[in-house]
Amino acid sequence: MLTKRFLHYVSYDTQSDDTSLTIPSTKKQLELSKVLVEELHNLGVSNAFLDEYGVVYARIEALNASEDAPTIGLNAHVDTALELSGANVKPRIIKNYDGKTITLNKELDIYMDPSDFPELNEVIGDDLIVTDGTTLLGGDDKAGIAIIMSAVEKVLQNKEKLTAHVALSFTPDEEIGRGVENFNLDHFKATYAYTVDGGNIAYANYENFNAASANVCIHGKAIHPGTAKDKMINASTVAMEFHSLLDPNAVPEKTSNYEGFNHLTSMEGGVEQATLNYIIRNHNEIYLQEQKDSFHHAAQIINKKFGERLVKVEIEDSYKNMAALIKEDRRCLDRLEKAYELLNLPLSYIPIRGGTDGAGLSYQGVLTPNLGTGGYYAHGKYEFVSINQMQTMVEIIYTLLTL
Ligand SMILES: [Zn+2]
Repeated sequence: MLTKRFLHYVSYDTQSDDTSLTIPSTKKQLELSKVLVEELHNLGVSNAFLDEYGVVYARIEALNASEDAPTIGLNAHVDTALELSGANVKPRIIKNYDGKTITLNKELDIYMDPSDFPELNEVIGDDLIVTDGTTLLGGDDKAGIAIIMSAVEKVLQNKEKLTAHVALSFTPDEEIGRGVENFNLDHFKATYAYTVDGGNIAYANYENFNAASANVCIHGKAIHPGTAKDKMINASTVAMEFHSLLDPNAVPEKTSNYEGFNHLTSMEGGVEQATLNYIIRNHNEIYLQEQKDSFHHAAQIINKKFGERLVKVEIEDSYKNMAALIKEDRRCLDRLEKAYELLNLPLSYIPIRGGTDGAGLSYQGVLTPNLGTGGYYAHGKYEFVSINQMQTMVEIIYTLLTL
């Protein structure tokens, strides 16, 4: 049933669109959202509904729960990433994966060799679902939706065992960072929650980046190059000088784990004017501030050298690390650890090198760490899921709701 569900969901093209101004960003996401509401109704969750912002909400009351029983929220997103199309996905099941090179598409010469994709070694013996190499799979995050739905189905068959109320939500536009922009906490009265949107289920995440962006604007002096001596200030040259003053090792391609970075995402320049755009990331707020300071410091050095204000730095904060909040109230992690323990499964935490909808929810008041789905190599044609891990995550969530 879990696999059937998943294959059904990935048959819908639900790609979001960061250039769209509508809510949700694409209408096609609503097609799947409507299917999810209907499925919940058929399962017996008659209060499931789709709101005007394209978010699905539903609630299951625990009948025998104690008075102080928490409401546990579960969330997954319906949209798929921008990098590659999620239309006409042709999933293929590989039974009992043998650890060898996977042929995704012989005609197009697309293979997955474990030496290039080492995480394949984590799923030897599992049943996998892969793509045909022409689209992404959509396991991010339809694996999460299928897991939640199957856990809900199991819970409803054992409703008397529920020890927590359950709040469900399926959100659009996570991939374009708008997943919880229009989230309604009145419809989702959770004590704490979990996004089901990660990778290997042996890992959960409650730490994400603190994030800011920098816009660096440089005003030069354009003069005819024939008569420019001692007069011209070439904005593009100054831009390169500015960049060279930043830490050359604090870049995405040279950092991992808890190391932060300043990532030059775009540049544009002529002689008169040049612009550099960066995203700035660090799990640690103090280090993030130091990185921000290094931008102002570089501007000062250049402005001092030229004796005028050529460089202007504007920095804007975006999202924040939810770890700061979760460390104050560990109930969501305590319960998760208990569930893994009861099932005798290993659990460790790894920091997310990005943001999550859970971080947004945490700062809106519902602490929301992230759980794995058994999905790998998301956002591209090499994406696959482990059916075994998905099944285990259904058990973990069922245990979480009934322990
Ligand atoms: Zn995702």
